[in-house]
Amino acid sequence: MDMDKLVSLCKRRGFLFQSSEIYGGLNGFWDYGPLGTELKRNVKEAWWRDMVTGHDDLAAPPGAPEAFQMVGLDSTIIMHPQIWKCSGHYDLFHDFMVDCRESKKRYRHDQVRGRWVAYQGKRVFVTTQSGGDEGVAETAQRALKLFGLRGKDAERLAWEGELVSLMTVADFAQVLGPDAREPGTLTEPREFNLMFKTYVGALSGEEGAAFLRPETAQGIFVNFKNVVDSSRVSVPFGIAQVGKSFRNEITPRNFTFRSREFEQMEIEFFCHPTQSPDWYRFWRDRRYRWYVELGLAGERLRLRDHDKEELSHYSCGTADIEYAFPFLPPGEFGELEGIAHRGDFDLRSHMEGKLVRQGDSLVVETDAEGKPRHKGSGKDLSYYDDVTRERYIPHVIEPSAGADRATLAFLCEAYQEDKVPDEHGNPRERVFLRLHPRLAPIKAAVFPLVKKDGMPEVAQNIYRDLKQQFNVYYDEKGAVGRRYARQDEVGTPICITVDGPSLTDGTVTFRDRDTLRQWRVKVEDCREELAKVLRGEQLAISS
Ligand code: ATP
Repeated sequence: MDMDKLVSLCKRRGFLFQSSEIYGGLNGFWDYGPLGTELKRNVKEAWWRDMVTGHDDLAAPPGAPEAFQMVGLDSTIIMHPQIWKCSGHYDLFHDFMVDCRESKKRYRHDQVRGRWVAYQGKRVFVTTQSGGDEGVAETAQRALKLFGLRGKDAERLAWEGELVSLMTVADFAQVLGPDAREPGTLTEPREFNLMFKTYVGALSGEEGAAFLRPETAQGIFVNFKNVVDSSRVSVPFGIAQVGKSFRNEITPRNFTFRSREFEQMEIEFFCHPTQSPDWYRFWRDRRYRWYVELGLAGERLRLRDHDKEELSHYSCGTADIEYAFPFLPPGEFGELEGIAHRGDFDLRSHMEGKLVRQGDSLVVETDAEGKPRHKGSGKDLSYYDDVTRERYIPHVIEPSAGADRATLAFLCEAYQEDKVPDEHGNPRERVFLRLHPRLAPIKAAVFPLVKKDGMPEVAQNIYRDLKQQFNVYYDEKGAVGRRYARQDEVGTPICITVDGPSLTDGTVTFRDRDTLRQWRVKVEDCREELAKVLRGEQLAISS
């Protein structure tokens, strides 16, 4: 799939706009237009329904050790700054960046790649920000330019190996930066904290400093006790939250995939330590299935268990759900969601203070005088099980998903092109979004075939009736073929047309977006039929 086509569809049909576009845009920020807003809301609502409100508290779902409860939370974006000190974000949430003295651009150290090339005794590491064949082609062009050679002289360049990360290079004097004309303009890598800083109240100094949350998870941990004390939940149970998070990404890119302001859908699931490996497996599989159920297909979606070296210092298991986004080089996948076994790291950090690993255990990090480096709340966040009479700090399984990345993956997967016969029987190119009915921004469009003979009145009545239950759209302008095409392009599953026979037999035409199948339905049955189609039930085809 050609990503440019999807990006242009998103702009043209009002799914996504660059933020602040009339002022030239702001890198890493995106606005959702009318249809994008519906789509993303549907993604978040499907998640909330499937994980929280639709969850059956009374029966263990397949693969779960036992029945459990799920509840919601909506915590603030700005929280007490100590939270980020104890969670580790203050000290550890950074990327390494390199600056270019010539272009004034900044790059993530781990994202720049390049190839070594030699010419007339000079050896240079030529960089690119692209991967795969594109990256190789770019480095070839740049090397020719650097040495003042023409395309026909390409074989005079001696290339050493394939594209490798800038992280493998020790001497930056030999590096030709991604936007530089001469080697040696990149600075050594430096740490860069990804949290956005702000100031609360009238205190302008460091006393008033606070951060925009880089994840929604911490709001859940610090409310663990409130929820336990107020909601009659008992371990095992989960708290879910959907909300904005902010990260000052060094190189935001790939459309909404890496943004500076984005939305997360996170669950913190609290369980007994001895059961936590089983719960980890349950959540990993459950979350993978969720994407499959909503239409992400086999090969492009994968569940990848982290290697031991990749695991965070507190985790005994992490898996990523990844999607082969079309903007990535072939064979590469991008993270949609991470499912992590976090042990008791988070609750303990907020009790005792920032933790670090010492051998096999986690201990409070101390300063030179032996005092905690970042003090915890001092509150008891343990849990008392009044059936077993046991007190313990629950272990946590965290499925952490991105609403924008999921929305983008569903859009990429849905984008389809085919050929259909036009009104004269000639093949016409068609673009359609094969979105799952639950995600489709508009569930059905209602058309009168022509704007006369009473057809608009009948169609408007159907529209108003359906509107009570579904997001439906009415359109009477232009040729009906064009109206179908417009709906296909935004993923509307069903078009309902009031036509000639409608006026005599009281039926209308239902048309299916994917199969183009048409069948007739009685006007009074439209609501029920549409509900059935959207539920994915076998159609009662009557024509
Ligand atoms: P990456 O390695 O891609 O930066 P991450 O491992 O830092 O991601 P997490 O901290 O695990 O991401 O965040 C959980 C989820 O939040 C991610 O799986 C992703 O869906 C979403 N997310 C994280 N950062 C961004 C971002 N900059 N833009 C959009 N979504 C994001």
